[in-house]
Amino acid sequence: MTELVPPQSLRALKSEGLFEIAWPDGQMFRVPFKLLRCECPCAVCIDEITGVRVLRPESIPDDVHPVELGYAGNYALKIVWSDRHASGIFTWDRLRSVCQAAQT
Ligand SMILES: [Zn+2]
Repeated sequence: MTELVPPQSLRALKSEGLFEIAWPDGQMFRVPFKLLRCECPCAVCIDEITGVRVLRPESIPDDVHPVELGYAGNYALKIVWSDRHASGIFTWDRLRSVCQAAQT
């Protein structure tokens, strides 16, 4: 079982349209808002039964951004997006894998 390690710092850089996320192991990632929005793991964005993503990236506005950031307990990040989507909860593990995927 992997331990859930929260990021050391997380900043939403609105002018650049991305999150800057630093982890305790020293790795730093820059993740575009839209990319994280499209990775939303909630039941609206992913079909619960089939596990297939039903969210269409083209339905997300290019200028989507977080309007509110909060924590769900000590295990996840909760984001309210500018497209009014608020049900997505990103566990640290999931956030980390999105970071990893965004690093190209
Ligand atoms: Zn969602």
